[in-house]
Amino acid sequence: MPLRLPAGWPPYLTAIPHALFSLCFPDECRVCGTALRGWTWAPVCAECLREPAPLAADYFCIQCKTPFRNPFPLDEEGRCALCRAGARGFAEAYCFGSFEGRLRRLIHLLKYDGMRPLAKPLGAWLRRALPLDRRFDVVVPMPLHWRRRLARGFNQSVLLAREVAKARRIPCRQPVRRRKATRSQTGLTPAQRRENVRGAFVVTRPRDIANRSVLLVDDVMTTGATAGACGAALLRAGARSVTLLTLARVDRRLRAADSAAVGSLHA
Ligand SMILES: [Zn+2]
Ligand SMILES: [Zn+2]
Repeated sequence: MPLRLPAGWPPYLTAIPHALFSLCFPDECRVCGTALRGWTWAPVCAECLREPAPLAADYFCIQCKTPFRNPFPLDEEGRCALCRAGARGFAEAYCFGSFEGRLRRLIHLLKYDGMRPLAKPLGAWLRRALPLDRRFDVVVPMPLHWRRRLARGFNQSVLLAREVAKARRIPCRQPVRRRKATRSQTGLTPAQRRENVRGAFVVTRPRDIANRSVLLVDDVMTTGATAGACGAALLRAGARSVTLLTLARVDRRLRAADSAAVGSLHA
C-alpha cells in the first residue's frame, strides 16, 4: 500500500537541494534500479515485490528439506546424513525460497539497510512456506546477540516472526538468548559450524515454551547448525517439539564451494 503525499507539494520540499532530496527519498528501485513512480513505503518497485518462485528440488531430505542434486545422500526413508545421525535440533524444517537473486537482495535491504517495512511482504511469503494444517503453540524468533542487535537496531527475525504469529493467531515469545557472540561461520565445515555455536543459546524464560510445540523463525538457513543449536536449547528447556521456518536457504546445489559469501551473513 503506497503512502501518498497530499495533493500539491508543500513549498519547503521544492526548496531542498535535489541531491539531498534523492538521498532521503531515492527514486530508483533498490533491487532492479528502475525509476519509481509515486511514493512507496520502501524504495522497491511492485515488480520486485512479486512473489518469487518457491524453492524446488527433485530430491530433498524429508526432515530438513535440504535439496540435493541426486538421491544418493538420502536413506530409504528419505533422510539426509545429518538428520539420520540425529544431529538436528529441530524435527522438521520449512523454507520459502532460495537465497539468491531478488529474494537475497530484499533480505539484505531489510537486514542491513534497515528497511523494516519489507518485513510485511517477506513475512507473507514466509507464512506461505508453512502448511496450513500444521499447528503450533508459540512462535520464537532466532535471537541475535545483544551487541549485534544494538548495532543493527532491531532483529530481523523478530519482525518476520511477528508477521507469522499475527497471521496464525498464536503468541510470539522471546524465551531464548544468545549468550556468546559466535565467530563468523564463514569457511567452516558443517561439523565446525556446529561446534562453533555449541552452548551459544540459553533459555531464560522456559515457561514460554514448556511442553509447547515451537515454531522457530529465522531469515536465512545455511547449514542449519545455528538453528539446530537454538532448537536443541529449546528442547532441553522443555519444548515439546521444534520446527524451523526460514525465509530463504542457501542452496548448495547452486554454490557448492561458495559458502564464504553467505557465512558472514547468517548472523
Ligand atoms: Zn524493482
Ligand atoms: Zn535432513
